[in-house]
Parts: sequence; C-alpha cells; structure tokens
Amino acid sequence: MPECIFCKIIRREMPGKIVYEDETVIAIEDIHPQAPVHLLVLPKAHIETLGAMGSEDEGLIGKLFSVAARLARERGVESRGYRTVINNGTGAGQSVFHLHLHVLGGRVFHWPPG
Ligand code: AMP
Ligand code: ZN
Repeated sequence: MPECIFCKIIRREMPGKIVYEDETVIAIEDIHPQAPVHLLVLPKAHIETLGAMGSEDEGLIGKLFSVAARLARERGVESRGYRTVINNGTGAGQSVFHLHLHVLGGRVFHWPPG
C-alpha cells in the first residue's frame, strides 16, 4: 500500500514522531493533536478498518489496547482519565484507512462525542 501515509511512516519514508515500536505495533504522535496527549497506536500490517480484521487478529487488537494503556500511564493521563477511539468509516470520521487507535488525554472529554 505505497500511498498509505501510516505505512510510509512505518517504513521511514515519511517523517513521524514514533513513540513506541515493537514487531507488530507502532505508536506515533498525532500531527493535529486534539488534546494535550494525542497518540495513535497502529498495527504495522496494513489493515484498513476494524471490520477488515479477522479472528486471527484478535491478539493484535488486544495488543493495540495494551500498548495504549501503557502509553497513557507513561504520559501521566491515567489518573484523570483518557479516551481511546477507533473511527471506522468516513461517516464516523475515519480519514486515514490504516487502522489506528486514538489515545487522547490531558483534558476533560464530554459524552456523547460529536
Ligand atoms: P482518523 O480521522 O480517525 O482516520 O484519524 C487520522 C488521524 O491521523 C488524524 O487525527 C490526523 O491528525 C492524523 N494524521 C494524519 N496525517 C498524519 C501524519 N502524517 N502523522 C501523524 N498523524 C497524522
Ligand atoms: Zn497502511
């Protein structure tokens, strides 16, 4: 998927502030942060949406959340609360079609989201 910006960041073909990386997952700073802490946790494999994941990806989905929780703790937003979001599809606000888990913290979040 040469046109995918997140694949390009993973391959170091585009700049990105990488804050975590292992064999299957990478986390970056969001380029347009919507909160004092705004990270994106993504699988290294190009998977477009949550719906494109199969049962064989269940471990990977768990890994995304586990890394998100660790990063939230490290960034000091756990005690005040933080939000994890996956936008799926254009109507839900997805703009980059490489699955990613938003981790937002450091401010108050309202419900329901807009
Ligand atoms: P979504 O709208 O849920 O698909 O989220 C895509 C997110 O990717 C947005 O919050 C963007 O600000 C962010 N984004 C877009 N391009 C980049 C980039 N080059 N580096 C880091 N984050 C990006
Ligand atoms: Zn991709």
